[in-house]
Amino acid sequence: MTGNQVSITVAEGDGIGPEIMSATLHILKEAGAQLDIHQVEIGEKVYLRGQPTGIDPSTWETIRHTAAFLKAPITTPQGGGFKSLNVTIRTTLGLYANVRPCVAYDPFIETKHPGMNVVIIRENEEDLYTGIEYRQTPDVYQALKIISRPGCEKIIRYAFEYAKIHGRKKVTCFTKDNILKLTDGLFHKIYEEIGTEYPDIEKEHWIIDIGAAKLADQPTSFDVIVMPNLYGDILSDVAAQIAGSIGLAGSANIGMHGAMFEAIHGSAPRRAGQNLANPSGLILAAIQMLVHIGQSDVATRIHNAWLATIEDGIHTYDIFKENISRQKVGTQEFAHAVVARLGAKPHSLKTVQYGILQSISQSKLVMTPQEPIKKELKGVDIWLEWHQSAEALAQAIHQLGLSSIKLDFISNRGVKVWPISLPETSCVDSWRCRFSRQGTSLSQQEIIQLLNQLIIHHLDFFQVHYLYHFNGQPGYTIAQEEQ
Ligand code: NAD
Repeated sequence: MTGNQVSITVAEGDGIGPEIMSATLHILKEAGAQLDIHQVEIGEKVYLRGQPTGIDPSTWETIRHTAAFLKAPITTPQGGGFKSLNVTIRTTLGLYANVRPCVAYDPFIETKHPGMNVVIIRENEEDLYTGIEYRQTPDVYQALKIISRPGCEKIIRYAFEYAKIHGRKKVTCFTKDNILKLTDGLFHKIYEEIGTEYPDIEKEHWIIDIGAAKLADQPTSFDVIVMPNLYGDILSDVAAQIAGSIGLAGSANIGMHGAMFEAIHGSAPRRAGQNLANPSGLILAAIQMLVHIGQSDVATRIHNAWLATIEDGIHTYDIFKENISRQKVGTQEFAHAVVARLGAKPHSLKTVQYGILQSISQSKLVMTPQEPIKKELKGVDIWLEWHQSAEALAQAIHQLGLSSIKLDFISNRGVKVWPISLPETSCVDSWRCRFSRQGTSLSQQEIIQLLNQLIIHHLDFFQVHYLYHFNGQPGYTIAQEEQ
């Protein structure tokens, strides 16, 4: 390793991974990137050796001690028991921001949306991707959606800082807070709070369904979009595809202490070993990496050479179009064409010029200090497995002879079915019973006594949620009829 070199970890991945990585590393070397490369093995072979996470414990140390991780796609073997390695790497290393630029290169690559240039910033550590799921009863399964204030603050501040540094004019937020009032509601609320610190940046919020429809129809009306993990996962693929091809988009996964760069597509096993795959997604990810590690001049040279190659109509099969493209090439030939254009600039596509300050300082991402919060226990939701009617369950609970705590309602899949119900509501075997005492708080002792009563009367509960008020505000959803 020489004085200027930056240590990075490289994994060539599975399927088309080795071919696109070899093409990308060839370009990086020829462009003069100063890198000390540490190769690691992850993915299919590691899974099949019996490592259920797809990564050997020693590999973590290599990744942790290098400045960045350049990763080709990997294959998750079919069948149960294998955890997604991408999710594991992102969450274990705290890579909270997933940045996915989706750009149209018209008229040189066919696109549904000329002029599209959208950056999707996806939260990377929370939401349904914690993968915490339960089987509640014989018929019902549950997944936990976890959203935290620090998680929202980090990603939303990152999105505004990204917009500021990259000269972008607008940050849009997508949530489903008309339904998910507490989780997505928090994301939206923090977006509004942090947005006030960036008066020069335009702000707008869309409910995810209509926002997604608008993005698919008029992507040119968006600039930067920030959203929770699941929505970002889905919509960044849609955005990349409608811009031109899923094979064209790179992504950065940024954390406080490390970063990983990858193409957004998968390992496309059917295309593997044929010198067919488009290496552009990984090349553009590597360009993001060079900016991140402070080699912006090399990033600029490669990006402009790549744009010139695209403009010259030298295209892999996935973007090749008879009347637009000039030459259909394989993975290696595409890389050679980019190398041949190092130092050149595109003629009609916009030239790229990265500055040295285009990597976001993590010190900007400070958390807002929170005042102490007063918590009061107001009630409890107890979930039971039950195979008769709601009325029969209410009667069974009344036979417990509770004196100080009252059964408020019973709901089934979120619909109140006792004390009033409609015959049309279909019920499953998982029931939520809400207990409280009008006006006053409960003690944990009282709840334990209630649970004891349920055990004595063979009422089969499997989950208990305490109902807290935080500074007088309910920290739980209120049933419709109570609002
Ligand atoms: P995929 O993205 O691998 O492939 C879908 C199709 O897109 C391919 O058949 C091919 O036609 C096209 N394609 C994708 N990348 C291309 C490229 N660079 N050049 C040309 N065409 C390209 O998605 P999939 O088939 O759903 O998944 C295959 C495997 O990849 C699975 O094992 C999946 O778990 C894994 N995967 C890995 C990652 C990752 O490592 N980041 C991401 C997604 C999927």
